Amino acid sequence: MCGQTARGPSAKPVSLMIEAYKDYSPLDSLNRCGVARACLGPETLPALGERRGEIGHVLPSGWHATCYDKSLVSGESLYNRTHLIAWCLSDEVDNPKNLITGTQYLNQGTMQPLESRVVDYIRQSGNHVLYRVTPVFQGHELVARGVQMEARSVEDEGAGVSFNVFCYNVQPGVAIDYATGDSRRDDQVPRATLARKGYLLGDEEALAASGEGSGAPQAPSYELNFNTRRFHLMTCRSVGDIAAHNRGRCRLDRDTLVALGYVSCGRCRP
Ligand SMILES: [Zn+2]
Repeated sequence: MCGQTARGPSAKPVSLMIEAYKDYSPLDSLNRCGVARACLGPETLPALGERRGEIGHVLPSGWHATCYDKSLVSGESLYNRTHLIAWCLSDEVDNPKNLITGTQYLNQGTMQPLESRVVDYIRQSGNHVLYRVTPVFQGHELVARGVQMEARSVEDEGAGVSFNVFCYNVQPGVAIDYATGDSRRDDQVPRATLARKGYLLGDEEALAASGEGSGAPQAPSYELNFNTRRFHLMTCRSVGDIAAHNRGRCRLDRDTLVALGYVSCGRCRP
């Protein structure tokens, strides 16, 4: 007997009634945010053309109004008041449970492109997205090491949006004291630290890692520019322009390089 005829009316496909919500953890005893969850949809987005309200009065844990030279931090301000769930997704302006101390690189470099993907998807499809952002603090530190961003579209079961990404709270060229939010220009770290930790490849190892030598490639290998703090594929045409004393090859993977404050090259997009 065909199973379809055995089904009652309740098994008929019905249009899903999905209710949007937003849920923020209470601040802990150190004034730190916790996980923020939401079911986002057209009804949670700010109206088109709406402008975000002021957030400057919120002081997230570890907040410092620290500026660096434009050559180091474009826009000068190291930290942004960083929404866990972006205003453009939630219409949530100045909720202290939704704002952390995040570097400009985190806020605008790594989080924003992911947020834009979700906004675009919701606007185009009218669908909903389950969304969760978890700030990760170590011990009693006041500044998060990063945020885990997770998203999955509901109506199409993840076909439109599905990601789970850890975004590091770092700024190239700046060393951050995560316990307090203090920071300093970080000029010496790159080559010395990488070399001390054994991350830099000698000439023979580099040859082997490139596959040109006898050994098989063992790990990802990138060309670093210690001056601009960018990393490149070994085949990138920009590599030839790096002065020899600013150039080195390493065996680190992408995530580790990013955690160390390196930025991927916009040309070869490693
Ligand atoms: Zn490159």
